[in-house]
Amino acid sequence: MKRRQEDFANLVNEVDIIMLDIEGTTTSISFVKEELFPYVRQEISNYLKETWDTQLTKDDVAALTRQVSEDARAGVEPLPTSHSPEVLIPALVATVAAMMDADSKVPALKALQGHMWHRAYLNGAITGHVYNDVVEALQQWKKAGKRLVVYSSGSVQAQKLLFSHSCHGDLLHYFSDHFDTSVGAKVEAGSYRTILQALHSPPPEKVLFITDLVKGELGGVTNLTFIVC
Ligand SMILES: [Mg+2]
Repeated sequence: MKRRQEDFANLVNEVDIIMLDIEGTTTSISFVKEELFPYVRQEISNYLKETWDTQLTKDDVAALTRQVSEDARAGVEPLPTSHSPEVLIPALVATVAAMMDADSKVPALKALQGHMWHRAYLNGAITGHVYNDVVEALQQWKKAGKRLVVYSSGSVQAQKLLFSHSCHGDLLHYFSDHFDTSVGAKVEAGSYRTILQALHSPPPEKVLFITDLVKGELGGVTNLTFIVC
C-alpha cells in the first residue's frame, strides 16, 4: 500500500496536468445512480407543473416533443397534441421515464435533466458528493502548481454544478477546464487528443488521467498516463 502511494506521488510529481473523472473517482457512484437520476424521476411532475409557463420549460418540452415525434417513426408512442398541462404533463412524465429506462442520452432529455438539477442544486435539494480525500488532493495539487481539469460523461454544466455546490462547498475554482463527451467517448483515443489540443499544453504534454474505468480502448495516446483508482 505504502509502495503504491509512493508510486502515485512520483507519478503526480512528473506531470503538469491532472485530469479527473467524476463518477467513481471524485464522487461516489451511488450519488449519481441513487440520488441524481432518481431525483429527476421523483420530481419531474412537480417541476413541470411549477415551471410550465417559463420559457426554459417551454423550450425543453418543445425539444422533447420533437424528439418523440422523430422516435415515433421507430414505433414509439407520440405525445398528445393537446396544449393542456393536465394532459401533457403525465404524458411527458411517462416519456421521460421510458427514455431514462432505455438509458437515453438524447440532447432533449439531457437538457431537461440539467435544468432540473440546476434548480435542485440552487435550492439545496441536491448537494454534490465529493470524497474527503479528493478535496485534500485538490488542495495539494493546486499548491504544487498542477493544472486540474475534468473529463466526465456528465455534461460540462452538470460537472460545474456538482463542484460548485459540493458537500465541501464551492470547489469549482480548482479546475481550469471541463470536458464532456462532446469531445468524444472516453474509450476513444481521439477524445484525449482533442482534449490535449484544447488544453494548449506545450509538448511533450505530461497529463495524468485518474479514473475508475477498468476497461476500454485507451491506447494510442502516448503522452497521456492513465491511472485506475
Ligand atoms: Mg468513472
